[in-house]
Amino acid sequence: MVAVKNSLPRRKFDVVVVGAGGAGMRCSLQLAQAGLSVAVLSKVFPTRSHTVAAQGGVSASLGNMSEDNWYWHMYDTVKGSDWLGDQDAIEFMCREAPNAVYELEHFGMPFDRNADGTIYQRPFGGHTANFGEKPVQRACAAADRTGHAMLHTLYQRNVAARTHFLVEWMALDLLRDDDGDVVGVTALEMETGDIYILEAKTTVMATGGAGRIWAASTNAFINTGDGLGMVARSGLPLEDMEFWQFHPTGVAGAGVLITEGVRGEGGILLNKNGERFMERYAPTLKDLAPRDFVSRSMDQEIKEGRGCGPDGSYVVLKLDHLGSDVINKRLPSIREIAIKFGNVDPIKDPIPVVPTIHYQMGGIPTNYHGQVVEWADGANRVVNGLYAIGECAATSVHGANRLGTNSLLDLIVFGRAAGNHIVAAHPERQKTHKPLPQQSLEFSLDRVNALESRANGEKTQDVGNAIRVSMQRHCGVFRTLELLEEGVGQIADLAERVKHVSFKDKSKVFNTARIEALELSNMIEVARATVLAASKRTESRGAHALDDFPTRDDENWLKHSLWYSNTNSLDYKPVQMKPLTVDSFPPKARTF
Ligand SMILES: Cc1cc2nc3c(=O)[nH]c(=O)nc-3n(C[C@H](O)[C@H](O)[C@H](O)COP(=O)(O)OP(=O)(O)OC[C@H]3O[C@@H](n4cnc5c(N)ncnc54)[C@H](O)[C@@H]3O)c2cc1C
Repeated sequence: MVAVKNSLPRRKFDVVVVGAGGAGMRCSLQLAQAGLSVAVLSKVFPTRSHTVAAQGGVSASLGNMSEDNWYWHMYDTVKGSDWLGDQDAIEFMCREAPNAVYELEHFGMPFDRNADGTIYQRPFGGHTANFGEKPVQRACAAADRTGHAMLHTLYQRNVAARTHFLVEWMALDLLRDDDGDVVGVTALEMETGDIYILEAKTTVMATGGAGRIWAASTNAFINTGDGLGMVARSGLPLEDMEFWQFHPTGVAGAGVLITEGVRGEGGILLNKNGERFMERYAPTLKDLAPRDFVSRSMDQEIKEGRGCGPDGSYVVLKLDHLGSDVINKRLPSIREIAIKFGNVDPIKDPIPVVPTIHYQMGGIPTNYHGQVVEWADGANRVVNGLYAIGECAATSVHGANRLGTNSLLDLIVFGRAAGNHIVAAHPERQKTHKPLPQQSLEFSLDRVNALESRANGEKTQDVGNAIRVSMQRHCGVFRTLELLEEGVGQIADLAERVKHVSFKDKSKVFNTARIEALELSNMIEVARATVLAASKRTESRGAHALDDFPTRDDENWLKHSLWYSNTNSLDYKPVQMKPLTVDSFPPKARTF
């Protein structure tokens, strides 16, 4: 399959959205309803995107079950981010949250209900009342299948709005012209193996996370960071890639997620002595402290010999005291996961858990309209024709550490905002598509053709496994400069090996070997960005915990990192400390 430039099929849309998770489909709904022609690409059937796996809930200060308001939510999010979140975007998100959730309710999303008919809300890590005084009930939930309910609701709405889905299509590269504007993508139709040019006046990246660059991950296999690879290859930076969230409760040995909602419902973590150790680390919020905090505490317990099991390698999550009624009603999937993957029935026995990679806080830099921005001459400059939303974007509302349930919220708030912004900007932009940039097109085709024509070389699986092992070892819950610097060297060697990957079966129809090799070229970009940015940030902030520099250093490091692929170099830009309308929350010590 060698692709020739002049014979490639071309299709034109007003907007191409790459990704059919919660973010992509909330955005496409806004666009299709406004009458734009919109194509949504997805590597899998839309309702199989990773959003479907979200369990615990979506945050909004509805105040249905305990007093709440958006300003408390904003404070928690700024503090949760360890002050690396942009406060304009955080204010925007927390203010919009109730409306965004009510909108989903009116779309027909089947939330759990209270006796008075309002949406059920559970407590979640780091979400508090009155600026940290006590946990608040802010996570709107559909049992422990909130993402499933959300994604299916959005899909149905999109079908009704006649959104055009290109299912089992993989976007390969961005097409950028000499002005730096984005004018579409190249994409592979998996069923036929044909490569298409998809021209668009606006391109939206909504490709989700890249948690699969680690060996132990709660993420779906498709989470390979394709959007990040595409953007990095096009010369644009990736922001804050050193910040990755370890979720405290992955099933030990399997990595499958046990939602924080279990602790929201009253579940507790115990060490081998049966001690509720979080009381020592976070006296106020205990098991409901933010994730970076709980993960580190667990790791500490295990390191200091208080782990459970034959080799003391995990702690346990006890929930039998909640009773079978609560477990079966509020946490049915968790019970199923514990039985299938942890070999325990949580109605009787505690679940063995370990911190597991879960979420990327960094990503493609954007403003709070979802427009992708470059940093030039001391200011953000908008990249025409390109937006990014959802987990692949650094908007940046999560900063150095995301609070649970703030991601599903981020998808719907910024998916909608980007949609509205594109619609509003549409009439002003040129009515026709810009000419295709030949250089950018050739770059993409050369890349594919080089892979296609290589007869011998490295196996995708071998190189992929080596990346995952290296990331796991060198970029874990606790990091050291020595480990990170070794990691930088290893990942650089692996980047060379990625250039020599080849596969034997060159058949066109549904060839998964080709797809995995292309995914690997994206994973390596994410890994390179992560280890380099982590090795240079000489402080501990949020999820980046460096043994050599155990404290936060606002004087030198209250800034976002920007990584560039072509030079493998870093730049930095300031955090937006000024919210839209309220006073800024200045940095202070983070205790819980
Ligand atoms: C197990 C689990 C539980 C979670 N629970 C919660 C929770 O309770 N609350 C919460 O707030 N957050 C939760 N999260 C986080 C949250 O679910 C994710 O951050 C969020 O769903 C990501 O949504 P997204 O729309 O950005 O991307 P995704 O839902 O991951 O969708 C990405 C889309 O991009 C497509 N795609 C990717 N690459 C390409 C390509 N090259 N070409 C074409 N298409 C492509 C995929 O096919 C897919 O359609 C959880 C995450 C996990 C893993």
